Amino acid sequence: MTRRIAAHYVYPVIGAPIKNGYLEFDENGTLTGIGTLTGEMESTEFYNGVLVPGFTNAHCHLELSHLLNKFQQGTGMSGFINQINALRECAGPQERLEAAQHYLDQMYKDGVSAMADISNCNETFAIKAQSPMYTRTFLEVFGTLKEEALSVLDEVGKLHQEAQKIGIDAAPTPHSPYTMSPELLTLSSAAAVASGYLSYHNQESDEEESLLKTGTGALADNYKGRGLPTPPVLGKPAVFHFLNCLKKTGKRYPNTSILLVHNVATDQESITEVQATLNKVTWVTCPLSNLFIHRQLAPLDLFRKNGLNIAIGTDSLSSNTVLSMIEEIKCILNHFPHIAFEEILQWATLNGARAIGKEAQFGSFEIGKQPGAVLIDHFDFEQMKPTQASQSKRIV
Ligand SMILES: [Zn+2]
Repeated sequence: MTRRIAAHYVYPVIGAPIKNGYLEFDENGTLTGIGTLTGEMESTEFYNGVLVPGFTNAHCHLELSHLLNKFQQGTGMSGFINQINALRECAGPQERLEAAQHYLDQMYKDGVSAMADISNCNETFAIKAQSPMYTRTFLEVFGTLKEEALSVLDEVGKLHQEAQKIGIDAAPTPHSPYTMSPELLTLSSAAAVASGYLSYHNQESDEEESLLKTGTGALADNYKGRGLPTPPVLGKPAVFHFLNCLKKTGKRYPNTSILLVHNVATDQESITEVQATLNKVTWVTCPLSNLFIHRQLAPLDLFRKNGLNIAIGTDSLSSNTVLSMIEEIKCILNHFPHIAFEEILQWATLNGARAIGKEAQFGSFEIGKQPGAVLIDHFDFEQMKPTQASQSKRIV
């Protein structure tokens, strides 16, 4: 049984929008047809708005879904870390699981077809395995004490086995420069490189930059205040530390798909160095989360000037009030009104799918893919972009 759906426009992502476009899907959700609607096409479901492929949420922490409305906004990175340490376990296991299940279902209904999700424990493995949404799970580690690096790696190895047993794609990954000893950063990066995928919280704040550049600032004070070691002072942007550790793995890292997440404090020097070192980098932006914690956004125009692969993530409900790709898109359009919706849509779909190695299935309307189809309503057809009232809803 073929199902034909149509709308005022269809955005294939790999080509220009199709006016009065239609899409045909077989019973497995595989795209079998795409084109312009003609008068004699019967049994077509017509929708008011535009149809886009299912989104890829390129950065989420589903297991933090119980933290909605718990955190104070605008605290900066140091304040955020204090809150996560104090509040992470403020709900019991059952409540945490119910929240994660609720938001996983909600994201799927709102059109997310694939996701890069961070896990620090096994709590969300089973629900991700059962969800119709594809998830690549990054088993994130931290630990600032040099002597604990091997035991942390041992623990995450067990978590990795659990993930494999339950049937989800997962591998260890490093967290950030401030939460890890250089030894653990190197060891966990080696494990990530072996899997072909690595996700890393990069240059999220100016506090992180000054920690690595000069060893000063709120983040440096926070760690020193808790009697914890801090990373080496490089006199260079923070990403240089990550690249140094990556080089020390001795692995074939240039061909690993690396998701650098946040990049709020990234500058040209950082971009030039990353491009000279790595081949497959996706620069993931989480605009609503960045505004929530830092009241700042990543320099997206600088990224575009350098021709970088950009993708979009929601981050978690500890630093966001929604897990919604359409709200992230609207946020970018509001702050960067000169960027075309069509370009941002590619960030929200195909670029994220490529970053997690799933572009053969997701991210664009191409025959043979199973990308899902999502309606965006209340669309502005003059400016060809969503309005503040726009919502997204999965149709296929
Ligand atoms: Zn994150």
